[in-house]
Amino acid sequence: MGAVGIGPEIGGRADSSAVAGRGPATPARRQGADELAIAGITPMSSCDWPGRLVATVFLQGCPWRCTYCHNSAILDPRTPGVVPWAGVRELLARRRGLLDGVVFSGGEPTRQRGVVAAAQEVRDAGFQVGLHTGGAFPPALARVLTHVDWVGFDVKAPARLYDAITRRGGAAQAFASLRLVLDAGVDVQVRTTVDPTVLTSADVAELTAALAAEGVRDHVLQVVRTDGTTSEYRAAHAAVRDRT
Ligand code: SF4
Repeated sequence: MGAVGIGPEIGGRADSSAVAGRGPATPARRQGADELAIAGITPMSSCDWPGRLVATVFLQGCPWRCTYCHNSAILDPRTPGVVPWAGVRELLARRRGLLDGVVFSGGEPTRQRGVVAAAQEVRDAGFQVGLHTGGAFPPALARVLTHVDWVGFDVKAPARLYDAITRRGGAAQAFASLRLVLDAGVDVQVRTTVDPTVLTSADVAELTAALAAEGVRDHVLQVVRTDGTTSEYRAAHAAVRDRT
């Protein structure tokens, strides 16, 4: 997901084994919540869903390789999970009355089909469901959207600059997914992490205007954090900063 909010406190990994260019796992059968590959959980967060106190579940795997990604260990879709869904279930049972909901984050949480069953289960247990997504998989997003109360949607850049951020393309998918969210009427906050090594202020203004034309009412700009990013990215970021 975006540069903010990725920080599993339970089950996070220290190593990185990202594999460039691998696509999503696409199991033919329906996947249950117990089969989710969960990279970690933040048991209580007040910043992953504005105005809500939530547990955040980080799902393994992402098809993109964003310049500023600071959680490379979560990218490889082949890496198994380290937290069982049963652990999330038990956490919710203990935190009933304390938590408003669960946010599914990543990685790209819609990559795993089990997120649909997991979201249904969370709602059936009386909690609200939030979703962080970059919209890489529109059909998968459509499957889970009816079980979601709020979406934090990362828009990386104007379409023509997507590949410069994600390094795997994805503009068409992202904007198709954004359309799905807007048409569904789900509460949404659109966020853009402004990568100064790619985006100028004119690019950001262009994006803001384009999103407003699409009907986006809540667009938040986020500052890049360089901690956890690659040494190459930190150097490029410092060079831009020194020029301005
Ligand atoms: S590579 Fe994936 S997890 Fe990392 S910032 Fe980009 S969308 Fe988020």
